[in-house]
Parts: sequence; C-alpha cells; structure tokens
Amino acid sequence: MSKVHNFSAGPAILPQSAIQASVDALQNFAGTGLSLLEVSHRSKEYEAVVAEATQLVKDILKLGDDYAVVFLQGGASLQFDMIPMNWLGEGQTAAYTNTGVWASRAIKEAKLFGNVNVVASSEDQNFSYIPKGYTIPADACYFHYTTNNTIYGTEVFDIPNANGVPLVCDMSSDIFSRPFDASKYDLIYAGAQKNMGPAGTTLVIVKKSFLEKRVSKKLPTMLDYGVHIENGSMYNTPSVFAIFVCMHTLRWIKQVGLEAMEARNKAKADLLYNEIDRNSLFVGTVAKEDRSRMNVNFVLKNKEHESEFLKYCESKKLSGLKGHRSVGGLRASLYNALELESVQALVDAMREFEQSKS
Ligand SMILES: *Cc1c(COP(=O)(O)O)cnc(C)c1O
Repeated sequence: MSKVHNFSAGPAILPQSAIQASVDALQNFAGTGLSLLEVSHRSKEYEAVVAEATQLVKDILKLGDDYAVVFLQGGASLQFDMIPMNWLGEGQTAAYTNTGVWASRAIKEAKLFGNVNVVASSEDQNFSYIPKGYTIPADACYFHYTTNNTIYGTEVFDIPNANGVPLVCDMSSDIFSRPFDASKYDLIYAGAQKNMGPAGTTLVIVKKSFLEKRVSKKLPTMLDYGVHIENGSMYNTPSVFAIFVCMHTLRWIKQVGLEAMEARNKAKADLLYNEIDRNSLFVGTVAKEDRSRMNVNFVLKNKEHESEFLKYCESKKLSGLKGHRSVGGLRASLYNALELESVQALVDAMREFEQSKS
C-alpha cells in the first residue's frame, strides 16, 4: 500500500507506533488472550493503562501533585458546559475571548449558566487574527480562551496575563505541540482526536486549588469534575479503546520531547507557509503573526482552480485538504504525527500546479 499523506483536521493522523499497538491489542491485550474491546475496565491490565496515560500527561507537562488529570467523555464540547456549571456561580461573570467557532460555542454554552463578558473578539474580520491588548476584569470568576483555532488557522503562542483570574483553556488542537508552562493554568482541556489520540475521550487537567472553588450548587454527578477526579477517570466505564491509544501516543510524545516536537512542527509550518507566500497561485488567509502551526489555511487566488487543485492533490495521495465547510478554501493540518516528508509532498504538488498554469 502506498502512503497516503493525512492532512485531516480531526480525527487526525496518529504515530504509527500507536496504530500498531492498537492493532495488536485488538487481538490480544497485554497478554490476556482477550481483545482490548472485550476486557473489563477494572482489570488490573487496563487499570495500568489509565494510570500510565495519566502519569504521562503529568510527566510531559511537568505537573506536580497540585494537579489532577482525567480522561472524560462528551468531547471538548461537553467541557463548554461543564466549566460554567462547575465554576460560574450566581451573580458572577466569566470572561471569554471569541476567536472562532469553538470559542463561540463555549461562550454560547456559558451564557446558559451565568454572565459572560466577551473581552475581545476577532469576529469582525472572520476570525482571521488573534485579538490583543484586551484586559481581563479582576473580578471574573475565570478567563477562558482557545489556544488554536482549528477552523480558521490562528494560534495564540503567548500565555495571556490573567492578573490572578483563574486561567481556563481549550487546547484541543495544539496540546503537546510545543513546550508551555502548564503551571500557569487552572484548567486545560483537549478533545483527543486532534493531537493526542482517537475520538472518544477528552483530556482534562485541573489545578486542585481551583477544584475547591467550584460553585456550591448541586450538579448532576456525571458533570461534576470532583466525582471523576476522585474516581481516577473510572466513575463509570471510560473510553477504554481511546485511552489506550492516547497512552501510546503519549509515550511517543514523551520520547520525542516537547522541545523537539516544537522544532518538528515549526519546520513543517515554515515549509508550507513559505511556499504559500512564494507561489503565485496561493494566498494565506490569516494575519501572518497569528498563523497556526497546526492548521494552515489558504486559498487559490483564482477560486475556479480550487476543485482542480484538490483533485490533483487526491491523485498525489494528499488527503484531507478541503477547508472546513464554514470557511471553504484549503486547510492543511500539520499535527504532531505528520512527517515533514508529507508537507514536502504538498509543497511539490503546489509547485507542479503552478507550473501547469503558467
Ligand atoms: C475539535 C475542537 C472542539 C470540539 O471537539 P469535540 O471533541 O468534537 O467536542 C473544540 N475545540 C477545539 C479547539 C477543537 O479543535
């Protein structure tokens, strides 16, 4: 089978080691003679998987015992509700920035539970830049932002100065893509299917001191972070398969290291952005200083060439390049596991397409 270059925005490319471990475990999990799909989540072999995945997150992000790590269900989207349910109390206000579709959805859900102050937005220019220079009110009960705007291709590289307001972040599409100071955050969440595993589980990291600040009202059991943390992601049946794949992906991330991962990701993004800027047929769609290293959005200057270019890409086994249905154009997702060689193949295709039009 010849290689397909996978530029999908999510579910997305995974390291080959995680795929191979999954194939093996589907037949015989950890020497049990049973498939991973048919073992008890309470078996000692599986409990070891959850324990290792949890510890790997802590090791990679250098987190101490003042943080709890859990793997939940409901996607990043359920976090949009759980966060305000747990921390946005009566009469309180939470601060948010609106930098894309996912941030907008987080805001929409938070409004169901309390007051929301949108302190900055880039909606005026179709989310093509990251707003800067805003202030976070000191009395906000938390500040929520999105590091990487998957659909638009913008990314926040500097951690906002929240002035003592608890910092909450959706890192679904760039977690583990570069080193960052995780100890600055009170809560981090990430749907696994972009950069750390398959669909079906969401990583949540909570500072224990923040956990103690939860609102006092009664919450449905499944929507209370305290319950999941006390039970080590095992209050109910977890996403057995998804967490297993995350564990193997996390092993690979730890082995590579976040510094080397960043260098890898920077090299891939530079290669593609340089070609977009050089090539007479293409143009990038977001502010240069806010360009994402994970999702590269661009268009053909002549819109009529778009479907032809996508067909050409398909013939070259370049997959997943169509932009999100809400923005159109092209989007190349360059998540951790994508190799530089795949980006080179895309750049070659862009050059050949340019020659064919000249
Ligand atoms: C994909 C994505 C989501 C939604 O994730 P689900 O797991 O599908 O709910 C939220 N935020 C960001 C930044 C995303 O990329």
